[in-house]
Amino acid sequence: MSENFFLDNPDLQFRLEHLDLREVLELKEKGYSESDIYPTAPRNYADARDNYRIVLDVLGEICGERVAPRAAEADEEGAHYENGEVTYAAATLDAIEALRQAELFGAMLSREYGGLNLPESVYQMLVEMVARAESGLMTVYGLQEIASLIEEYGDPETKARVLPRFSSGEVSGAMVLTEADAGSDLGAVATRATLDEATGQWHLNGVKRFITNGLADVSLVLARSEEGSTDARGLSMFLVERDATVKIRRIENKLGIHASPTCEIQYSNTPAILLGKRRFGLTRYAMNLMNGARLAVAAQALGIAEAAFREADKYSRERVQFGRPIRVLPAVGRLLLSMKVDLEATRALLAETGRWVDLWKVYERALGEGGSEADPAMRARYKQSQALAETLTPMVKYCATEMGNRVCYQAMQVHGGVGYMREFNIERLFRDVRITNIYEGTSQLQVVAAIGKLLNRSLDPLLAEWQAAEYPADMATEKALLAELTGLFGQAIARTEDSGRGRGGPGRQPGSARGDPGPAGMTSARRRRAAALVQRPGLLPRRVQPWPSVWSILPVVRAPIPAVAQTRHDASERCRLAEPARFGTRMRLPSTQRVGV
Ligand SMILES: Cc1cc2nc3c(=O)[nH]c(=O)nc-3n(C[C@H](O)[C@H](O)[C@H](O)COP(=O)(O)OP(=O)(O)OC[C@H]3O[C@@H](n4cnc5c(N)ncnc54)[C@H](O)[C@@H]3O)c2cc1C
Repeated sequence: MSENFFLDNPDLQFRLEHLDLREVLELKEKGYSESDIYPTAPRNYADARDNYRIVLDVLGEICGERVAPRAAEADEEGAHYENGEVTYAAATLDAIEALRQAELFGAMLSREYGGLNLPESVYQMLVEMVARAESGLMTVYGLQEIASLIEEYGDPETKARVLPRFSSGEVSGAMVLTEADAGSDLGAVATRATLDEATGQWHLNGVKRFITNGLADVSLVLARSEEGSTDARGLSMFLVERDATVKIRRIENKLGIHASPTCEIQYSNTPAILLGKRRFGLTRYAMNLMNGARLAVAAQALGIAEAAFREADKYSRERVQFGRPIRVLPAVGRLLLSMKVDLEATRALLAETGRWVDLWKVYERALGEGGSEADPAMRARYKQSQALAETLTPMVKYCATEMGNRVCYQAMQVHGGVGYMREFNIERLFRDVRITNIYEGTSQLQVVAAIGKLLNRSLDPLLAEWQAAEYPADMATEKALLAELTGLFGQAIARTEDSGRGRGGPGRQPGSARGDPGPAGMTSARRRRAAALVQRPGLLPRRVQPWPSVWSILPVVRAPIPAVAQTRHDASERCRLAEPARFGTRMRLPSTQRVGV
């Protein structure tokens, strides 16, 4: 039977089916007016959804048939470095070629530049499948936010030159932020950007490290453009097209994602193009880039976890101990069930987050085009979607990547001793997933990014919407749970505010860290309190006890989302494992999980 990573995943199809993109697509597809110009453009909402299904199906087949079978080989060979040049493993090159032939690059770019004009929420589903197939490859395919940022802020001439080449897969991108002394604290970036006033040309000098896909032809580089500055406000974003002045000094020898080259790069008088405005390099452009990349890393962790779960599921059917397949032993069954619930809850949260990011982007663009004439309702919707997207993004990055690590750990446990051996795929997945809660900001930095927004109560409208929604009668328990958790969440925020009141300055603010600048409109006192809470050693666990309950709401987030409520699965189907009798127990899940284990 042929393998297809979309068609073999009912939960992913379920997510797509219940992703309500009507409002997003009306704006994104400009009232479906592009079908006259581009034959591939949808004529209406149903048409657009059909297109997404086709794209996912095509990629699903490539992932299942061509990429996944060579994943172990890609890991074993890894990327090479020789005489300043980096080459991908043979399996990676083959996978890139397959993606190119299927015209799956330029996923989110406009059709004007040869792109597919996909919403972020659908793109993340593609990324999840690629990561499930080979997580190193995901770091090449999943860097498409770079092209999107260029489309958003680049000048017309650069866009016309560079973007069609991204869409054809001829060039790839790199996000070049980190330096030896500037990791979480990107405000400390020291790479210099100097402007030749006579020619108007910028040049970069400095060394960057840990750069994924550093061999890319087009890079976005964060550099200090304002002489004498020492913080985030002196940084700008630059576009570099690789030439002889860009030297790759080495690639890292690392634990996992071996097919993904992690490069140290030296810039020596490298010509560069300023992207957007000076001084907004970190606070606007890098944050924008990282927000997209955080969703992609969340999707990566989810994809790896999906692969790990399937390995554990398969092994538990085949391995016999005490005369029975180990999956019928309650302890093993519980591990499988816990993994499955984790996966589905995370997929729901990622889809919900993607939808808010999509809304934010389309309203931002519409307001940009409409200027100050824009109607107030549109402005309000823009503000709401921005606040929710900015809050949910670090939360989903945190939850998905911690979940991915947890699931891979449990999947190895199901394998027993053989899981520790190279011959079994779980060993590779266990190594690969470890990076996800480190890059694009560690989990601790996701807390830094989210806490200010949570204290600003930016999640409240969404929680209120979920509480007010109509649910089927058989979801009364879930509804009560939602009410209880929302109450706890409110108490957590109130107590956090109390315990933070009157505390002193925190040193460097979250705005200068890989965290984020904090929500617009947040008072400086609130901002200071948030920073104090997350940055003072020992303060968080000791004095802010309710904080964990902020996170505890997330695993059940799947239950309340209205999309889930629309479908009414047979309760017995969703509340037990496939072979419940052999477990001797029925396990009630907190939501509409369909556990087809
Ligand atoms: C394989 C790989 C690929 C990468 N790819 C890229 C890339 O493509 N582009 C790029 O620019 N960078 C990339 N990075 C860099 C990556 O984003 C950073 O490593 C990461 O953000 C952490 O920075 P650091 O390593 O300097 O750790 P540090 O900042 O030194 O952090 C060390 C520890 O201190 C904690 N910590 C630091 N500050 C705080 C705080 N304020 N509150 C709480 N805890 C804190 C951290 O959570 C961590 O536990 C990559 C890294 C790796 C390993």
